[in-house]
Amino acid sequence: ATPTALMAGVGRGAQLGILIKGPDALEASRTVDTVVLDKTGTVTTGKMTVTACLPADGFTAGEVLRYAGAVEAGSEHAIAAAVVTAARAELPDLPGVEGFGALPGLGAKGEVEGREVLVGNARLFTDRGIGVPEDFAAAERDGATAILVAVDGRVAGYLVIRDVVKPSARAAVADLHALGLRTVLLTGDNEAAARAIADEIGVPDVRAGVLPAEKAQVVEELRVGGARVAMVGDGINDGPALATADLGMAMAQGSDIALRSADIVLVREDLRVVPDAIRLADRTLRIIR
Ligand code: ADP
Ligand code: MG
Repeated sequence: ATPTALMAGVGRGAQLGILIKGPDALEASRTVDTVVLDKTGTVTTGKMTVTACLPADGFTAGEVLRYAGAVEAGSEHAIAAAVVTAARAELPDLPGVEGFGALPGLGAKGEVEGREVLVGNARLFTDRGIGVPEDFAAAERDGATAILVAVDGRVAGYLVIRDVVKPSARAAVADLHALGLRTVLLTGDNEAAARAIADEIGVPDVRAGVLPAEKAQVVEELRVGGARVAMVGDGINDGPALATADLGMAMAQGSDIALRSADIVLVREDLRVVPDAIRLADRTLRIIR
């Protein structure tokens, strides 16, 4: 392999918005046969909005927003940003939160106006023995994510949150399949939401409800099964999976941890940058041999 040709490949990548950290990443890109895509912030824009607020008996929608908004003000999760925006739109003076705690892959908790507030997914509530409303699962169809709110151990209601699938995602997946690659959608979100989005973009394989600490394990299992895995992600929770993969690709607007763990940084938001990177590696190395 001539260093000049490799450097030309790295330079061509930079023009395409593909920042390759070293020549080894080019070689890894070429041998990859499986692409694992993180859902939130990678396949979707990660810019979420609250589309509904459904209070349980004994609570008002305003109360649900107030308690949830107060707790989520302490969180850095994309879901939290959506909840805080919705809450502030209704209630400019949100109460403060004390004893805030993030529950990675599950939700968040804190004390608001002297009451214990818990915000998060069905798994969190089930783990804590708090019953989930019957109509909750239905809210999670069509790719929406629903978030439960409990006050002093009692369900106060839930919020429905929508994210937007990147317009380029479907074409990017079709492109990857045309290159002979297998695709997998990996997410901490619930199975129904993940399935709906996977169907929308044409990804056949879904791994949902995966806790942040388990994402790297899913990548490792695929590798042990003989796959050569590229992981594409953006979040703090994708860091270990990006490092474990044969090739880690981070979205440039992602977290510092994702950027540091990756071999390649993707500067374009357009997801077709992923098949572009694999094609670039193939072309560059074909010239070399
Ligand atoms: P992803 O893999 O999609 O980036 P995460 O692992 O960050 O997802 O979160 C998985 C799930 O955990 C979310 O879909 C949500 O149900 C729940 N969750 C995590 N953090 C929060 C939070 N701050 N507020 C509400 N729910 C949360
Ligand atoms: Mg993400």
